[in-house]
Amino acid sequence: MKHYFHGGIHPADGTDKLLSNQKPIYIYMPKIIEVSMKQSPGSVCEAIVKAGDKVSRGDLIGVPKSFGGANIHAGISGTVIDVTTHPDSFDKDVEIIVIKSDEINDNNNAINSLRNYEEGIVDLSDYSRDDIIAKMRDGGLTGLGGAGFPTHIKYETKKPIEYILINAAECEPYLTCDHMLMKEHGYAIVNGVLLFVKAASAKKAIICLEDNKEDAFTALESIISDKGLPIEIKILPTRYPQGGERQLVEAVLHMEVPAGQLPAKIGVLINNIGTAKALADIVLGDEPLISRVITVTGNVKVPLNYLVPIGTRYSELIELSGGYTATKSRVISGGPMTGSILQIGGSHGDLSGSVIKISSGLLVLEDTPKEESPCIRCGECERVCPAGLAPFKIDFAAIDDDIKLCDKLYATECISCGCCSYVCPAKRELAYRITEAKTEIYKLRWESDD
Ligand code: SF4
Ligand code: SF4
Repeated sequence: MKHYFHGGIHPADGTDKLLSNQKPIYIYMPKIIEVSMKQSPGSVCEAIVKAGDKVSRGDLIGVPKSFGGANIHAGISGTVIDVTTHPDSFDKDVEIIVIKSDEINDNNNAINSLRNYEEGIVDLSDYSRDDIIAKMRDGGLTGLGGAGFPTHIKYETKKPIEYILINAAECEPYLTCDHMLMKEHGYAIVNGVLLFVKAASAKKAIICLEDNKEDAFTALESIISDKGLPIEIKILPTRYPQGGERQLVEAVLHMEVPAGQLPAKIGVLINNIGTAKALADIVLGDEPLISRVITVTGNVKVPLNYLVPIGTRYSELIELSGGYTATKSRVISGGPMTGSILQIGGSHGDLSGSVIKISSGLLVLEDTPKEESPCIRCGECERVCPAGLAPFKIDFAAIDDDIKLCDKLYATECISCGCCSYVCPAKRELAYRITEAKTEIYKLRWESDD
């Protein structure tokens, strides 16, 4: 059976990923980290430490203030030297905890030591479903691949779950952190996947890879083969946005998630491959979510994947990668299709921000100005839209500020993948305006609920 989803594009030829997936992950332990109390767009936490406090690696330093928040822990041992604030993209002040290391050697030892679940399959019979979910919550586990939603909330579902889909598609150009994790941390990932199966009482897990990661497939296959584990690996044709939840369900299970519903409605839970590794670290390694792998790539001297504590400053990562090589740089957090712009022009020393739980990449591109022209009604945007929308119609409604019409045209089903903008010959900023319209629709709905 063919594994396809509706729409989609081939935005790159693979050379973008070759920049960073040929060298091992570099482990780096900074002397200072700046930990944001906003680790994902939908979450806010509050600092529970103050300047002068001593913290050890793994100590709880932030607790959720909102539904989408998850515990935040210190990524290095040291002293809190400041608790300051910084405006987020909505100009709301977010607390930042600054920690200075005073035990750099201990910190390095902690991140370098290999643990038993990284070398073999672990017996999980001592762990109950409730134990695993409680550890997800206490360890601050969130999705590492997308919106950063707390994982324990997903797993508290009362709905019967048949399949866990492990999203290892990494379909966004340039990003290779998941690919490298699979090559180097296969056992931890497989143990994490088994924990997910247990936490959901699911029938089995399916690890979903694209056919451009053959070496990762070989690494994982050698671990699970002939062991009778409830894990299958499925290879999908390389196509963007394969990693969208609905697209993955369609491509792998040939099922459809009803509009406005979550995959759990049809008995499916989806987690990123990095989240599986993080779950193993929490449950089997007794280490909360305090570090992640991030791809630093594009127009930098040495593109590479780094394993770093949450809170590592972006400017330091660019420095480690040898600085910008673009004449005028455009720095993006994430990938080129769905990432957000951090800086245009300027030097890397002026780049603000630090690694958060959902930081998959730091991408530097040459900034090329783009001028929009009128729509020529070619229909390309409609053809590639994986959500089955008519982007040009929603765009016209958005430009007219007709939010009700945007809603009628199902703008809320947009997954902000950027395929429409990518193919548009008139270079129209469709994805940007439709995503903005989506936010306006939700605002209108909340206002009318009040
Ligand atoms: S309308 Fe949304 S879902 Fe459709 S292609 Fe554009 S960004 Fe993607
Ligand atoms: S791809 Fe661009 S030019 Fe073509 S219909 Fe869509 S908005 Fe218009």
